Amino acid sequence: MSGSVDEIQRRISERRARVYTASEFKAMVRDGRRPALEDVDVVTCGTMGVMSGTMAVLSIPVADPGTFKRADSITINGVPGTVGPCPNESLGLVDCVVYGTARRDARYGGGHMFRDLVAGETVTVEAGSGSRTFESRVTLEEVPFARMILTRGAFRNYTGFTNGSDDPFTTIFSGPRPMASGFLEASVSGCGEINPIQNDPGLDYLRPGASVLLNGAPGMVIGTGTRSTPGKPNLSVAADMKGMSSEYMGGFVTSEGPECITSVATAIPVTDGRALEGVSVLDEEVELPLTDVRDRKPVHSDTYASVWGGTDLSVTADLSKCLNCTSCRADEFCPCDASPSGGIDPVRCMSCGLCVRTCVGNVFSCDTGSLDFGGRPIPITVRQSSRFKAERLCSEVKALVESGDWFLRCFDGRI
Ligand code: SF4
Ligand code: SF4
Repeated sequence: MSGSVDEIQRRISERRARVYTASEFKAMVRDGRRPALEDVDVVTCGTMGVMSGTMAVLSIPVADPGTFKRADSITINGVPGTVGPCPNESLGLVDCVVYGTARRDARYGGGHMFRDLVAGETVTVEAGSGSRTFESRVTLEEVPFARMILTRGAFRNYTGFTNGSDDPFTTIFSGPRPMASGFLEASVSGCGEINPIQNDPGLDYLRPGASVLLNGAPGMVIGTGTRSTPGKPNLSVAADMKGMSSEYMGGFVTSEGPECITSVATAIPVTDGRALEGVSVLDEEVELPLTDVRDRKPVHSDTYASVWGGTDLSVTADLSKCLNCTSCRADEFCPCDASPSGGIDPVRCMSCGLCVRTCVGNVFSCDTGSLDFGGRPIPITVRQSSRFKAERLCSEVKALVESGDWFLRCFDGRI
């Protein structure tokens, strides 16, 4: 059957649409049971990982109207923002932009603050006006405007990084410790075959107005992102922070400071043969170049099958093995403050795999795979994307589509 987006939307609204998560669909493709065009309407896709191009536009109450004329500076939980563009003269309300990569210190930045806000925590706002500073403590409920904008993210594909130098290298492509020298470890990003753009590489559907979940909240594609090219496209997306879920976002500490975790999920309508080919892509067909992190020069190439094919998507813990070290290395080097020694916090954990290697008591288990380096495997030690949570997002979108509560074009309805 299939047909136009309008026809598929009608079947969704009538709860007659045939919907698969990307993982369900790929499993059938691998088994040689790919549904025919007339047997699929929608494939749900998702990705979650470090996305530096994330920012929030906030309108924050700081003081009563008339208390100060104009704010010059602002921090939220110590994370600096940029005041404006509207001066909001004498309103006591400060419009500002905060970058997900802005930092208070080495372990707390914009991504952490966004997650705290969404989790319902009270944040401390300090606004400078002339020689005076005004402070307020607010929750997201009390913030009248909180919109997140992804300026570039959800890349179709990404790169594995390794360090070929003689010295450890600090980089945003690591966890909290520098990347080891001598091609001894690799970090990876990207959710491979379930990534939205990977399933719509020509951006036939993912155009302005296409519906997405941004960090679990209804949002929309507003265009391609910065530095997007036909060969390496990425998206710009917007959504209200008030509908977001803290488990699909947050901060990620690297050896170059805090980064921002963001997630994007969507439902790709399978309108024709070209769309069917798009959603049939498999990990083993998605190239993953391996690059030397010092100069960004490719040193080899592999595929996402080495990252997500037959590996463990999440980490398991056997706390009975814990040695109760005076200083816990697993906690110290967890990029997401998921306090693994106390039992991994499932909301904060990104399944990066780092605790498997930093714990001295073999408490944690997870096969994170390895990348091919000319016949020599380089172990993947840090995954900056969570396929585990991206698959969960795919299931959430599938449930919304099956309930009839999903609009492929956000202008058509609530999403
Ligand atoms: S490093 Fe491992 S063994 Fe030591 S306290 Fe932490 S979790 Fe326990
Ligand atoms: S896998 Fe381990 S180190 Fe990574 S976020 Fe989860 S608890 Fe932290």
